[in-house]
Amino acid sequence: MSPPDPTPVPLQDLQRQYRQIAPEIDAAIRAVLDSGQYVGGAEVSRLEEEFAAACGSGFAVGCASGTDALWLALRAVGVGPGDEVVCPAYSFVATASTVALLGARPVFADVDPSTYTMTPQDARRAAQGCGRLRAVVPVDLFGLCADPPGFEALGEELGVAIVTDAAQSIGARDAEGEAAGSRARLGCFSLYPTKNVGAYGDAGVVVGRDPELRRRLRSFAAHGSSSPNVYEEIGINSRIDGLQAAVVRVKLRHLEEWTKRRRENAAFYDAELARAGAADSATPLDAGGLPLRTPRAPAAPARHVYHHYVVRVPADVRSALRAHLSDRGIATGLYYDRGLHQQPCFAHLGPQRLPETEAAARETLVLPVHPELGSDQRRRVVEAVVGFFQR
Ligand SMILES: *Cc1c(COP(=O)(O)O)cnc(C)c1O
Repeated sequence: MSPPDPTPVPLQDLQRQYRQIAPEIDAAIRAVLDSGQYVGGAEVSRLEEEFAAACGSGFAVGCASGTDALWLALRAVGVGPGDEVVCPAYSFVATASTVALLGARPVFADVDPSTYTMTPQDARRAAQGCGRLRAVVPVDLFGLCADPPGFEALGEELGVAIVTDAAQSIGARDAEGEAAGSRARLGCFSLYPTKNVGAYGDAGVVVGRDPELRRRLRSFAAHGSSSPNVYEEIGINSRIDGLQAAVVRVKLRHLEEWTKRRRENAAFYDAELARAGAADSATPLDAGGLPLRTPRAPAAPARHVYHHYVVRVPADVRSALRAHLSDRGIATGLYYDRGLHQQPCFAHLGPQRLPETEAAARETLVLPVHPELGSDQRRRVVEAVVGFFQR
């Protein structure tokens, strides 16, 4: 007997989110239309101030996307042709493609199987073969900080810049309670619509403290200009629209409440799946338990902000589980289904084995955890996941 047609449980529900804040958004957009400041302007300056404050950083520079944020930050710390940059192989392609776009070589490191992030030890191992290492790019993947104090120390030890890819981790905190991105030379954020704070289009932000880096970021994002009509270096056009800045300013005011909802949804999954016999990612699986691992929640003051809620199952059942959930209207995602070292665009770097990245790519599955998820919806997700293993 087939169950009644269920209402879908999407991976994101940006329309529901918009309906909840529509009066604020509509007023903010109208104010920009009335102001005549459509690129840059007062809204962008205010966003930069508020973003720096939210991240506990000295400054924030707005740009056109998270990808541009990475490109601008790497360029600002001096990455150029022939340099090497260590980054994790388990991430979104932009973490490494921006390195390659600057003529430098991405050097891929493996990740920790219990957090899915590159550790300082992983990075140090990857750096061993490098002769022209210029920067290391830790990724605060899925909303979990990748040991910022450890990377700060590694940057000093190796004498290279740490540029953190914090695209998925706005609002996260490290083991000492510091905000994601704030300890790096530069921290890079994406405001893509599905990120924890998203625009209604593309936008990105770089945060930091060094005024000289701020000057370089501003220059490279404005065609390399040093003063009106003078172009010191070749740069690009990477700006943030007034409309997007206004939207993001509204959404920043809701970030704490949305983060709380994400964390409540994750805690619900943690507890319910543990009750059904799942283990967390740092604990060995129980013989009689569920062959499923939940993400490890770090102890306070660290704070995971669950951009994605990632479970791990044996590779040979993952697609059947996805299909089972899909039949029940529940969307899932694969982030990521291969390592960056396995992407065709990096094939020229030569073959490489990164066992933890490859295993994670085969075994992880993302469940809906967004703040708009209703308690009925998240219960259905748990029932469907547990039901799959009890067939
Ligand atoms: C989204 C994302 C980016 C790129 O951001 P865009 O705004 O899409 O250009 C870079 N790195 C990571 C880890 C991301 O999740």
